[in-house]
Amino acid sequence: MPTYNLTAINIGGFSLGESDKVVSMFSTERGLVRAVAKGAKKPGTKMAGKSEALCVNNLLIAKGRSLDIITQAESIDTFRKLRVDLVRLTFGLYYAELTQAFAEGLEEDSALYYQTLFNALKLQERAADDARLLALEFGMALLRQLGFSPELTVCVRCRHALTEYNITAFYPNLGGIACNRCGQQAKAKAAVSEIDLTGYYSTREKPDADEEYEERGIFVTPLVWKLLVSADACCDELAADLPEDDLRPRRRELSASQKPALDAAHRLLQRYLEDRAGKHMRSLDLLKQI
Ligand SMILES: [Zn+2]
Repeated sequence: MPTYNLTAINIGGFSLGESDKVVSMFSTERGLVRAVAKGAKKPGTKMAGKSEALCVNNLLIAKGRSLDIITQAESIDTFRKLRVDLVRLTFGLYYAELTQAFAEGLEEDSALYYQTLFNALKLQERAADDARLLALEFGMALLRQLGFSPELTVCVRCRHALTEYNITAFYPNLGGIACNRCGQQAKAKAAVSEIDLTGYYSTREKPDADEEYEERGIFVTPLVWKLLVSADACCDELAADLPEDDLRPRRRELSASQKPALDAAHRLLQRYLEDRAGKHMRSLDLLKQI
């Protein structure tokens, strides 16, 4: 049977029969790969541990007729400390869910994305920075690699430079932030559309679904904007193949006023990512219950 080697991070999986599992993983060599882990459902076996989500392994895989089979697995990292922190583990699973959703678009430069995901999980495990701040940086790096980086420095409509004094809202459909002037115009247009729906202006054509959606921007404060811009600036660092100790040696402190802004920035980016993926990411729903 032909075989191949992989270095991969587990990003999901499902049961196969009584004792096996199909593991989804993102590999540095081939991007998304699915393979059978024999005996992985039997508790206490070596394969059970190695097939868990967010474990990183060096693997030898045999090509099967329908599904490939893991024949050897050597553990590289299990992010042990991440597993004992429910909030950070949830963010790790959110990264895995995003990776599954966008895997196709990441295959072209799979080694770069593998490194980004590995570093992002390492930083969550280290727990020096706020989990949401790290997720914001990871989301930006993911979007950069997909070629969907949001427009944050010039207006997405008129291309004027954005500053903290002229920003209004983020438009997921347009992929960026609009300046004050363009935001006001969009708002006025949206107001007319609302009147339309009540029937007062029944002769005017109803805007199509896309246009309607694009007009509902997400309000962005200067603090939220600054957090988005600085998260975007971390993309290269997150994708770099650095020795572990050189990765982010300094902690990023947040002031009390930055915390609610961080929450808003994180929600905004999640919404944009979900918009791009065309689906809701369920991993973080758990955090609403704790
Ligand atoms: Zn503008």
